[in-house]
This record gives sequence, C-alpha cells and structure tokens, in this order.
Amino acid sequence: MKGTTGFFFDELCFWHSAGMHALVMPVGGWVQPPAAAGFAESPESKRRLKCLMDVSGLSRQLTLRTAEPASESDLLRVHPEAYLQRFKALSDAGGGALAETAPIGPGTYEIAKLSAGLAIAAVDSVMKGEVRNAYSLSRPPGHHCLADQAMGFCFLANIPIAIEAAKAKHGLGRVAIIDWDVHHGNGTQSIYEQRGDVLTISMHQENCFPPGYSGVEDRGVGNGLGFNINLPLPAGSGHEAYLQAMRDIVLPALERFAPELIVVACGYDANGVDPLARMLLHSDSFRAMTALLKEAAERHCDGRLVMVHEGGYAEAYVPFCGLAVLEEMADIRTAVEDPMLPLLQLQQPARLYSEFLKGYVENLAMRLA
Ligand code: ZN
Repeated sequence: MKGTTGFFFDELCFWHSAGMHALVMPVGGWVQPPAAAGFAESPESKRRLKCLMDVSGLSRQLTLRTAEPASESDLLRVHPEAYLQRFKALSDAGGGALAETAPIGPGTYEIAKLSAGLAIAAVDSVMKGEVRNAYSLSRPPGHHCLADQAMGFCFLANIPIAIEAAKAKHGLGRVAIIDWDVHHGNGTQSIYEQRGDVLTISMHQENCFPPGYSGVEDRGVGNGLGFNINLPLPAGSGHEAYLQAMRDIVLPALERFAPELIVVACGYDANGVDPLARMLLHSDSFRAMTALLKEAAERHCDGRLVMVHEGGYAEAYVPFCGLAVLEEMADIRTAVEDPMLPLLQLQQPARLYSEFLKGYVENLAMRLA
C-alpha cells in the first residue's frame, strides 16, 4: 500500500568526508593516493541505493522525508558531554582522526547529528503510526560507536539515540535491536549490556571487526544478563547459515522477549562481494531476513519495524540489497532484477562446508538456549 513505508534521508549525509584514503588506509608512505573517492565508507553505496529507488519508481510509492538534526539533549541521553565537545572541536577545526578507525572531515559533527536525527524521525513516525515501518538512510553509521569513543567509521550511536528519544517521548518499553551488519555491533552492545529493556542481537563474521569484542559468552551484565546475544558466524557463511540462525536463534529470542519495536542495524557488508568481509549473502538473503522480521514485528508489535542503515562497501552491489529490503518492507515488487543474483546464488558454500555450518549454528543455538 502506497506510503505505509517511510524513507528518511538527506543529501547532506552524503557530504561527510573522511579525507583521502585507499580503502581504509590513509594515503602517504607506501599508500598511493586513489584516483577517485578511495575511502571504503564512501557516500556512493548509499547514494546509488537512493538513485535505484528513484529510477525503479519505488521512491514514489514511499513516504519520503528528511528530519531535523538530533538535539544536544537527544545526544546527551547516550553520549557524555566531554566526548561531544571533543568531537565538535575536531570537526570545527577541519577534521582529523577522532579515533584510529574514525577519521572525520570539516562539519562531520553536524552531519552526524543529522544522521542520528533521521533515525530519531524514523522511529518517531513509526511510534506515532504515521507509517507502518520506516528506513533511515543514516550516514555516518553508528553501531561501533561507544558512549565515549568513536570507532569504525561511527561517531554517534544512531540507534540508541533514536530509541532513547522514543522512550523519553512515547514511553516506549521493550525494544529489540537486530544487527546484521557483518561486523560486531559492539557499540550497541556496550551501551545496552546492563539493560533488560533492550534486547541486542548481533549476527556477524567471527574475528572480523572490531578485534577483541565479540564472544558468544557475552550475554549481558547485571540487569542486562540474557539480553545480549552474539552470533559470531565463520567467514564464508552464506544464505542458508544466516537464515538458519534467524529461524533457530533470532526469532525464538524475539518470541521470548515480545518487543514493542524492532530496530535493525541494517548493514549490507555480509554480501558476497564486499571488500571488508568474507560472507556470501545476496539480495534474496536480505529480502528473506526482512520478511522474517516483518512477520515477527506484525506478531509482536503491530508491524513496528525500523531499519537504520549501517555498513556495506560494495558500491555497485549495496543498492540491489537495499532495494530488496525496501521492497519487502513496503510489499512492492519493482521491475528491478538483481544482475548479480544468479552468480552469487551459485557461489554458496560447498557441501562439506555447508554441513559444517549447519552443525555450527545448531551448536550456537544450543549454547544460547
Ligand atoms: Zn560493517
């Protein structure tokens, strides 16, 4: 039905610049300056998703909105003032390394506030029933950011900022965050690990990024015990392993928790051609995972589902995965066909490795039961 899915974006989010890099390596020394953008976390993957939505006609059938930047009080619910001041000062001074893996440029502070503001508005519109579900094309991303430390291209914790704003405004109770970005959602975990009202589940490639954070044994702390679930999957996991983990672990956890809102840290870097990870998903995997969560949202919380964009560095391929997610959310199928899908469906784990992965996920499910 037209307009029941909200899509929150702003061109300014594409103007965040981290300076000159080749992939993740700052230029200089033995690293040759690239001909074009160069930095892995470039605006292109996101802008091309929006462009594909436009040319396919999908945009016209969604509720398209921008948003106000997150306010200082929105930020202060999650981040200490000293961190925000340090971030703003470096941004005002023209940029630099806010942390080793978090380079920023001039004005990144304001753009990051807008990125968080889009997530706030997406959650708010779903809570108010203006739209059934919503997608926030937030950039810069947020899921690695700790309360007091930037990390992994992330400077503000977009999802916690949006959830805490909705808790303050709407009295929102239990929220489930499913993070299927291929990297561990360490920031979200650290912000919520002592809380029982927010269930955090991170599906990610084992020993990928950030090093030393993820572990199946991290189940939450104190009141949060049992409300943090890590699913570290071996490199080379594909469509079947992810769907098995969704069915056997994620959906039962949602069943037990009965959330009032489901938020997805929606990264696309588990796709089979991403340069920063080694998983084998394709657009149909993201479509199928979205369908499962949409069903869960309908069962538990009147369909309230919000996707917040995280990573995904294959500029040419992310748009097809993102379009699949948005088509599924909106119950609309455009004429777009994913040109890479047949190839990526063939490039799934070989039989012996598939069997290993099946046993691996069964074992994870047992350990987490
Ligand atoms: Zn990622």
